[in-house]
Amino acid sequence: MRVAQAVEGSRADAAVLGIPFDTAASFRPGQRFGPSAVREMSVLLRPSNQFHKLNAFEAIEVVDAGDVPAVPGDVKRTYDLTSKRVAALAAQGTVAIGIGGDHSVTLGELRGIAEVYGPPALIQLDAHCDTWDNYWGIKYTHGTPFRRAVEEGVIDVKRSIQVGMRGSEYAPGDLDESRKLGFEVITTPEMLKRGPAAVAQAIRDRVGDRPVFLTHDVDFYDPAYAPGTGTPEVGGPTSAFGLEIVQNLAGLHFAGFDVVEVLPALDPTQTTALLAATLVFEYVALIALDRKRGEKASPNGARRSKARS
Ligand code: MN
Ligand code: MN
Repeated sequence: MRVAQAVEGSRADAAVLGIPFDTAASFRPGQRFGPSAVREMSVLLRPSNQFHKLNAFEAIEVVDAGDVPAVPGDVKRTYDLTSKRVAALAAQGTVAIGIGGDHSVTLGELRGIAEVYGPPALIQLDAHCDTWDNYWGIKYTHGTPFRRAVEEGVIDVKRSIQVGMRGSEYAPGDLDESRKLGFEVITTPEMLKRGPAAVAQAIRDRVGDRPVFLTHDVDFYDPAYAPGTGTPEVGGPTSAFGLEIVQNLAGLHFAGFDVVEVLPALDPTQTTALLAATLVFEYVALIALDRKRGEKASPNGARRSKARS
């Protein structure tokens, strides 16, 4: 969106942070090129948000913090680099918006957030739970980050919710595994039956007033709307449905966001990158609305997001 590049010492309200990493993908890689594709399509977006009647870019300062210098093939070093960047931004009151990258990257972001805010609630919009224990004996993949997040205590699982699950499983009851870990799970059929506003309400009820991290895998959407991704699942929602959920999350206290799994090589019309850019645009509005609410709540204008909870 042509926002300014972050300079040393800048303390913006929100910062886009690319995490170009894809060696934890199980099937089709190439998500390391996601951040640049999303930035490219974001040039199309206009600044004012029609749903919220708000130019968030005037209301708050938004910058581009560049990319995490991800290390191909080394998920652990990439996690360290990611959590450091995210924690540094959070500590100065900047809400990071991560652009993946395969979904493994979110664990690094959550570690950084937890360091500053304590374990946040997690909202995960995804066709998959990503709570499997391992792939080929490997513990850190894009199918395992949220089991690791529970084990490490970097999310508050009792306030966390996974939405959009569908498709084939490894074994009957895979979703129950996620529920056993403590997540609330809403499948795609259930979600489509309830409608976007009711789903958003269920999310808000679950999260309450906890600081929350919203992670959004683009395979949440039907591949007709988001073809450019590694592990698509047919029978999903439209982009209109997902956007309406996100728009209706205004009022939550956001500690961080990401959008992951954009795979530009399989995205010939750049629709998936445009969808991801539009989600980032919606996140910026949610941050601006949260800031407004925080300033009202605190007579000194102190930013609530700076406070540890
Ligand atoms: Mn995922
Ligand atoms: Mn997925």
